[in-house]
Amino acid sequence: MAEGRIQKALSGFYYVDTGAEVLTCRARGKFRKEGLSPLVGDRVTVRELGNGEGFVESILPRKNAFERPAVANIDQLVVIGSAAIPKTDPFLIDRIAAIAALKGCEVMVLLNKCDLDPAEELYRIYTAAGFPTLRISAETGEGLEELIPLITGKLSAFTGNSGVGKSSILNALDPAFQLKTGEISTALGRGRHTTRHVELFRLSCGAEIMDSPGFSSFETEELNLELKHRLPETFREFAPYLGECQFLDCSHTKEKGCAVREALEAGKIQPSRYQSYLRLFEELKPLREWQ
Ligand code: GDP
Ligand code: ZN
Repeated sequence: MAEGRIQKALSGFYYVDTGAEVLTCRARGKFRKEGLSPLVGDRVTVRELGNGEGFVESILPRKNAFERPAVANIDQLVVIGSAAIPKTDPFLIDRIAAIAALKGCEVMVLLNKCDLDPAEELYRIYTAAGFPTLRISAETGEGLEELIPLITGKLSAFTGNSGVGKSSILNALDPAFQLKTGEISTALGRGRHTTRHVELFRLSCGAEIMDSPGFSSFETEELNLELKHRLPETFREFAPYLGECQFLDCSHTKEKGCAVREALEAGKIQPSRYQSYLRLFEELKPLREWQ
């Protein structure tokens, strides 16, 4: 019996990295019967059949799991943004950060293309909100040596809009490793989709990275409903004020004397983060409860 991590799932095959080799596996029928399916990122035990093939026998307990994309055991979400084209809307970062908080993942904000624009504003917002925030350039290599210790020994999921430089960053981190990068469509300011399925890569520094186009959305009804109920606690910098708020059922959106709003007015909460909170609050409000 071998143990390893599922790197990729494709057409019913699971590619399991044992550290020594990558085994091509099928899942045992019992998973289907139990309504369980192995996910990329899962740690599994494998019964080897020889010739680099095997069967996934069991899935080890998960730290977390996502439905869309279907992945497990993410330690950290690396949200990639840029102040150059395509310019990142802070709301996208805040939405992903809120979902990460629900799932118990750390969040790091990585501002790429700093050779084109130093992303002062985004850097200020996310540093002030308490996120580890780095400015880098995949093009010039600036900031990459600071990034490496923050991803080594972890499974990080790279998220961010297409064209923001996810593939370029991976290529710059590990020269052995050449992902196709897309040419930006200048008409739209958006990149082409160059990554099509979820895949886990191990870089030479020991970092494990998951790159998937679906990570920019994360939408599922169940997650949104959970977010609706737990929204205030998913904004990390609100934490010191939630307990201070004098209203038991405060929505922290308009109540006079709300401790969160007072912190905002005192400059302790970034206005753009608070705007994202309000926008999420409004967007999630109409969601129906489970019957
Ligand atoms: P992805 O869709 O997020 O994987 O983005 P890509 O890695 O394909 O990059 C999209 C485009 O942006 C490509 O043309 C890259 O050459 C360019 N690009 C990526 N990173 C940088 C950077 O740091 N600086 C500059 N100037 N261009 C970059
Ligand atoms: Zn309040």
